[in-house]
Amino acid sequence: MKVGFVSLGCPKNLVDSEVMMGQLAAHGHELTPHPDQADVLNTCSFIDPAKKESVDTILEMAEYKKIGRARKLIVAGCLVERYRDQIQKEMPEVDAVIGTNEIEQIVPLCEGIEVAANPFEPYLYHDLTPRVLATPKHYAYMKIAEGCDHPCTFCVIPQYRGKFRSRRFESVIAEATRLFQQGVREINLIGQDTTCYGEDLGIKDGLAALLARLAQIETPAEKWIRFLYAYPNKVTQKLLDTIAEHPALVKYIDMPLQHASARILKRMKRGASGDLFLKLIERIRRTIPGVAIRTSMIVGFPGETAGDFEELYQFVEAARFDNLGVFSYSDEDSSASYHLEGKVDGRTIHNRKRRLMALQRKIARARNRRLIGAEVSVLIEGLSQETDLLWESRMPTQAPEIDGFTLINDFEGAEPRPGQIRKLRITEAHDYDVIGTLLPGGAETAPASVPFPLLQIQPNTKPQIPNPVL
Ligand code: SF4
Repeated sequence: MKVGFVSLGCPKNLVDSEVMMGQLAAHGHELTPHPDQADVLNTCSFIDPAKKESVDTILEMAEYKKIGRARKLIVAGCLVERYRDQIQKEMPEVDAVIGTNEIEQIVPLCEGIEVAANPFEPYLYHDLTPRVLATPKHYAYMKIAEGCDHPCTFCVIPQYRGKFRSRRFESVIAEATRLFQQGVREINLIGQDTTCYGEDLGIKDGLAALLARLAQIETPAEKWIRFLYAYPNKVTQKLLDTIAEHPALVKYIDMPLQHASARILKRMKRGASGDLFLKLIERIRRTIPGVAIRTSMIVGFPGETAGDFEELYQFVEAARFDNLGVFSYSDEDSSASYHLEGKVDGRTIHNRKRRLMALQRKIARARNRRLIGAEVSVLIEGLSQETDLLWESRMPTQAPEIDGFTLINDFEGAEPRPGQIRKLRITEAHDYDVIGTLLPGGAETAPASVPFPLLQIQPNTKPQIPNPVL
């Protein structure tokens, strides 16, 4: 049977899709990137902030079911958790749904075998779970934990993904070792909250211990290891010292803060304040010279006054983040914040978001300008998606799919190849991207493993990753 996949949303959804594809391949089914040739179409969809994109994609897939050979359309992912009944009632084109804890049902459902739904049994894959990578061959995501125990009032994820649970230490090491052996150069560790890793296993400073072990895996060439989605009050000094100590751990912290006003953070049930965050940021920069810090903020949370927003604005101005995602508050009816008073109107939210993003653009441009003349390591991604005259690469301080690129407009020595790690001299700076000349040397063989391409129906634009809601 030929099965086609489209995966929308954040890396966590992508890994779920990769596990489902792995299960299908292990059962002898063929994966196809051509939607008109698939017998079964799957979408792994997500909820806000782009619910509409998920629904549009399902409808687009339903069209392929009419004109192609597909007999079945299966919808998986967070959207199912949130709207299971509505999808089943109002979208007759959809033949089956799979929740985030039911992804092992993909094989029987594709084969037309009835299975009892068990959406509440927590699921987490392990190193022996078949998985087909859908990322470019030189980088991969790896889930180290699932679920979340934090009570953030705007977030519905714990309702779907369940209690926090870590993967076994050795399972993570085994999978990472295998990925590096396959030619992956960069591993990105993910989870709803990676900084809680190991707490449920009784391991103190579990993420630091895990990173230190991962950094020691022997590989034939340079490797990069990054973790995403740190919870601010879980960023320990031990974790920072570990990142500073090991060259393989990229100097990058992704730490969604969500706001800076103590009043709003309290209403979000996250606690802390802008002042405490500034102290933490100062400590991170002092411990890890050259570190890049990404964060995300929510504007328009219920009760956010003009004064709260000004506090946030001034905080962002003072913190000078390398990267900042700004998200409009989304009023999910199953979230605790849905019941809070003081809803902010859409126009105000829009204006606040625009102001904050304009500020960040100025900060990012100034930071990038300071890089001109610097020689940095880059991981080459491939030809630019926009023009054949440029190559795309990333510095360790640029995470895949969410941060900007380091564009290559000239090279000395061998022609660049995707997956190589080379030196580059930065010559120009733009708002979010920098441009440079690739230097000779370091042109070792690029990795040989070939990823499975997802269905070719995604919009022909740079991927937009939604709020990682952490
Ligand atoms: S926002 Fe992140 S940390 Fe907070 S409850 Fe949701 S997943 Fe957990």
